[in-house]
Amino acid sequence: SDSHFPVPISPSQFDSTLHYPQFFKSDSSKKIEFADIGCGFGGLLISLSTLFPDTLMIGMELRDKVTEYVKERILALRASNPGQYENVSVVRTNSMKYIPNYFEKGQLTKMFFLFPDPHFKEKNHRRRVISPHLLDEYAFVLRAGGIIYTITDVEELGVWMKSCLEGHPLFEALPEDELEADPVVKLLNTATEEGQKVARNEGQTFRAVYRRIATSLPH
Ligand code: SAM
Repeated sequence: SDSHFPVPISPSQFDSTLHYPQFFKSDSSKKIEFADIGCGFGGLLISLSTLFPDTLMIGMELRDKVTEYVKERILALRASNPGQYENVSVVRTNSMKYIPNYFEKGQLTKMFFLFPDPHFKEKNHRRRVISPHLLDEYAFVLRAGGIIYTITDVEELGVWMKSCLEGHPLFEALPEDELEADPVVKLLNTATEEGQKVARNEGQTFRAVYRRIATSLPH
């Protein structure tokens, strides 16, 4: 249960120097900008780490053993590649409850929801990591211009995530030419363990990539 892991009471109480010790030797003002929600075994973070070596990023994962695995994976990569992978870390948490405890308003530039659990039954839709209510929270922590990336191999969930994003006043779909030009979009299918499994089985995927727009909610 939630009582087994510590949760910062506010973003200022989250000690990122513990997560990126090497980074903070040179720059103590840096803030986390990318969050991979339900990061699983961490494949996306590992790919992003070298693609954006100056950006701090974190995975949020509910399962304790999986989180420990990702921690060990990052430490091993740091040890065998001196100077690399210092910008990536992971935390065990329930992202559906605690996003605002970790990130300030407008702090994030990218959020990732790759192959989230589908929660098929209607009564379980409230447990989905994309919902109208949770999008309010994600819009809060995302900077204007920030991007939310979602992908799934479950068509019903893909339709759901897209319709939630489409219906939210603070998000707009990324146009096709920008999707093409964004190197991160190419990773959605290939970088994570779940994505690789789907690719091996030649499964279809459903993607929705949306930008946080600048206007505020109407009163
Ligand atoms: N994104 C990874 C990938 O593409 O390989 C993992 C996908 S896996 C199907 C979904 C992950 O989300 C699981 O590792 C699960 O433990 C995690 N998860 C589910 N609910 C969560 C929550 N409320 N907070 C954080 N992680 C959660």
